[in-house]
Amino acid sequence: MSLRFHAFEAASRKQPEPVAQPVGRPADYFGKFVFNQDKMFRYLPRETYRALRRAIEQGEPLSRDVADSVASGMKRWAVEMGVTHCTHWFQPLPEGTAEKHDAFIELDGKGGVIDEFSGKMLVQQEPDASSFPSGGIRSTFEARGYSAWDPSSPVFIVGDTLMIPTVFIAYTGEALDYKAPLKKSLAALDHAATAVAQLFDPAVRRVTCNLGWEQEYFLVDEDLCAARPDLMLTGRTLMGHSSAKNQQMDDHYFGAIPERVQAFMRDLEIQALQLGIPVKTRHNEVAPNQFELAPIFEECNLAVDHNMLLMSLMRRIARHHGFHCLLHEKPFADVNGSGKHENWSLQTDTGVLLHAPGKTSEENLRFAVFVVETLMGVWRHNGLLKASIMSATNEYRLGGNEAPPAIISAFLGKQLDELLDHIEQSSTETLFSMKGKRGMQLDIPQIPEILVDNTDRNRTSPFAFVGNRFEFRAVGSSANCASALIALNTAVAEALADFRERVVKRGGDMKAILETLREDIRVCRPLRFSGNGYSNEWQEEARRRGLDLETSTPLSVDRYLDEDSVNMFERMHVMNRHELQARNEIKWETYFKKVQIESRVLGDLSLNHILPVSMRYQTALAQNLAALKAIGASLPSWGEEGGVSLIDQITAHAAAIASEVDAMTEARKRANRIPSERERAIAYHDTVVPFLHSIRRHIDKLELIVEDETWPLPKYRELMFIR
Ligand code: ADP
Ligand code: MG
Repeated sequence: MSLRFHAFEAASRKQPEPVAQPVGRPADYFGKFVFNQDKMFRYLPRETYRALRRAIEQGEPLSRDVADSVASGMKRWAVEMGVTHCTHWFQPLPEGTAEKHDAFIELDGKGGVIDEFSGKMLVQQEPDASSFPSGGIRSTFEARGYSAWDPSSPVFIVGDTLMIPTVFIAYTGEALDYKAPLKKSLAALDHAATAVAQLFDPAVRRVTCNLGWEQEYFLVDEDLCAARPDLMLTGRTLMGHSSAKNQQMDDHYFGAIPERVQAFMRDLEIQALQLGIPVKTRHNEVAPNQFELAPIFEECNLAVDHNMLLMSLMRRIARHHGFHCLLHEKPFADVNGSGKHENWSLQTDTGVLLHAPGKTSEENLRFAVFVVETLMGVWRHNGLLKASIMSATNEYRLGGNEAPPAIISAFLGKQLDELLDHIEQSSTETLFSMKGKRGMQLDIPQIPEILVDNTDRNRTSPFAFVGNRFEFRAVGSSANCASALIALNTAVAEALADFRERVVKRGGDMKAILETLREDIRVCRPLRFSGNGYSNEWQEEARRRGLDLETSTPLSVDRYLDEDSVNMFERMHVMNRHELQARNEIKWETYFKKVQIESRVLGDLSLNHILPVSMRYQTALAQNLAALKAIGASLPSWGEEGGVSLIDQITAHAAAIASEVDAMTEARKRANRIPSERERAIAYHDTVVPFLHSIRRHIDKLELIVEDETWPLPKYRELMFIR
């Protein structure tokens, strides 16, 4: 029996795994493995506790003494929890997280060892990071990088290891990770947004950014997955005819969660809660075997860490339940892909910023300002924002009829559209009538409660306003959330800074705000689109409006190096030109490597799996025909002269596969000789990727012809339906 049948049998027999029962209710075990405020209070001396809170809340640097004292309290807690090692945990480019574990020991100089965990180990380490991509930064400058604790993200425990969230920076100061520029983008946003919020209320001290991500994913049985080298090596199926039944009945979306999956989800939720990730929602998604998990939103930097942590938890816990968790954006053709919606909002230390109606017209005006300046940032940098979510894997998902189009536009909903239209059209004179201490009354129309559970939702929009936040839906399921947020935060910070400058020039009063706002509503109007983002007309219309239409990842990321983008990142102190260049090198390199792996796997499977079984089946057909002829029996229609026989169909597809695999290999070789990373990535996109599609088409046809018994790879109908 083939591996495929063994795998299918094993998968069919599996029962739900028992879930380790936690003691008590979520409130009792939430944050059990996190050195959170409560533990800081219990394990740190009062003075240290206060200094650490200041570092967390106001970003004050930690002195070495305080760090030593924090480390010693932390170690006491960790040792009580059975921890023996610690690691700096960081988010290197291009993806994933990295860790290097060190035991809590030092030689004591007398032939023994002592438990040791000093402030220095906590605050700064020098991982030998020479194998992480740096886009040339480390080779041209200093060879080493260091990681430094980010106290705004709490330390946590996984297994026997204390995990310390850190930034990862070259000795010359350039960021080699996502966290460092994310934190800088948050600082820029805080700075610019606070200055604008102060136009309305001088008491505002701080603006924080919140993020609530929704993570989509697929589960497949791990035995079946193991029989699919393409899934194992590339995270997606490079071939597979669609199942007769897939998502057309919408029965998965509304259906009950399969028991085995429910056991996995329960386990995942318990462990996530213990790590302080406030997971809340779970449900089936549209495609068979597709699911979603969402937490309660948190401060942006923490939410990003939690998403990274959750993705690694998902992979690990899935294995305990006999599943393989697929975070790839498009693991299966013909059914929906997976995204990661990023719900993004702003909040001052005194209230929320993207929620209407406020108590006064000033608050409503402030609401309009923050909405419009968000749109301004996105409008001005729509190409960059798209570049921030493009990747070799997300490229397969975008632009399908189930995913956001590869054009960034914004959907506001009817109420908000009307509000902005009103502000734009009314003149300053009619907007004001003298009244009250400020000498004026704003004629901002009464805003009805903008429903958060808005029925007025446009699922085809990549960037939509949803009541009290924007939802960026083009982000890929496997991405680090930070990539999109660095671009978004910086673009909005720049728009707010520009806005304030112009308002101040006009005198800084409400009239100045209104005039400037009206100007911006006009400028960013082309970004607003409430029609069908999947339609062909939208492509044409978007082109006329001047929106970015690029669909190739290697070309899309050029936007990072546009003068407009470089100026923005430099002016907002988020990244400099050199860092942007280096990061682009990494993006190009990652892109071509991923396509290269897919292409190699497809070539191998074609030659070693698909062609041999097809030929064997063809031989059987030919022998059957010969036998029929020998006894003078009438021949089946497909064997008759003149008809396109099954035998000939197999010959045609097999010949096409063989020659296209050859041509694809040649295209790869040509691309590999190109020295520039960018040009090589473009060559992979333009000359290798098309073969992935065309070879697959022939294989999928063969899958329908060749007898089921000998087909080596688990089919979609087997992979996609967990009982
Ligand atoms: P959907 O209907 O889009 O699937 P969900 O309720 O499943 O919505 O998820 C929405 C996500 O948005 C959750 O993570 C939630 O915490 C988050 N969210 C809600 N309000 C805000 C807000 N003001 N800022 C940021 N995120 C928010
Ligand atoms: Mg949502």
